[in-house]
Amino acid sequence: GASRDDSTVSGRVRVAVRLRPRNSEEMVADADFADCVELQPELKRLKLRKNNWDSDTYEFDEVLTEFASQKRVYEVVAKPVVESVLDGYNGTVMAYGQTGTGKTYTLGRLGEEDAADRGIMVRAMEDILTEVSPENDLVSVSYFQLYMETIQDLLNPANDNISIVEDPKSGDVSLPGATLVHIKRSVKGKNSSFSSENGNMTLTGKTLKPPVMRKSKLVIVDLAGSERIDKSGSEGHTLDEAKSINLSLSALGKCINALAENSAHVPVRDSKLTRLLRDSFGGTARTSLIITIGPSPRHRGETSSTIMFGQRAM
Ligand code: ADP
Ligand code: MG
Repeated sequence: GASRDDSTVSGRVRVAVRLRPRNSEEMVADADFADCVELQPELKRLKLRKNNWDSDTYEFDEVLTEFASQKRVYEVVAKPVVESVLDGYNGTVMAYGQTGTGKTYTLGRLGEEDAADRGIMVRAMEDILTEVSPENDLVSVSYFQLYMETIQDLLNPANDNISIVEDPKSGDVSLPGATLVHIKRSVKGKNSSFSSENGNMTLTGKTLKPPVMRKSKLVIVDLAGSERIDKSGSEGHTLDEAKSINLSLSALGKCINALAENSAHVPVRDSKLTRLLRDSFGGTARTSLIITIGPSPRHRGETSSTIMFGQRAM
């Protein structure tokens, strides 16, 4: 990819890795074993253990240990994207990783009760609502799920066949069928009713600062679990689900790799996920990818493939 030091290079994806702490099951089952990774956050390095005496070392833009707070994760992963959205550019924050490694925890749920546990979604909304002017700016939210190439409105679940509309001139992507909720600062914190797995949220801010009107969009994406799902439909997935998840994640990987290589052609047409993200890829848009991993040596293979996905994005 582009030079690692130059975060101003357009199209460059910032990649952070976050390690989940051991859960109670792992504390028992893996008690006699070291974690499969060792983090060196000051050096922004991660070592993936190969065996007792050897490991591979990888560098990331940010390395977040099991002690990193939700606040710190927001500040390093999402805040720069939110700031550029407030400046009028599109931005995307995506979480990628094996099921159970903390994607949903990291992005957070709307209406999270514990203030310290609030994730990226709520913190981003708070920052946006603090910055925009209630008189001149319009902020709206939509919340939807893409499942087996079908888009369902999570603010109106009966509406489960939403289509994507792409403006041929501007390249702007919209979902005219999805509920758009206009939010104001006074509404902040009162909306505890939206909460869903694999939900995607879009924030559209229209900033009316004469003489130009700026319109920008923040897309927060909780991706499907990245574990290799085999054709037997194990892991609780049907064969069709497995095919669909593998298709969208591999299409996403190709687009992210194209961005990392500053390629003129980003192959967005291969899946609905990438079509949805089309106006968030490249140009002046900013993308932050957080890859989530677990510590267990039993999942070293999945952890390794997640790390490789993150490395290819840089
Ligand atoms: P995923 O969405 O990737 O499947 P979750 O976000 O649901 O994973 O996380 C799995 C479990 O681990 C949840 O109970 C969650 O609260 C917990 N968890 C994840 N990350 C952390 C973390 N950094 N600190 C504490 N608990 C975490
Ligand atoms: Mg989840």
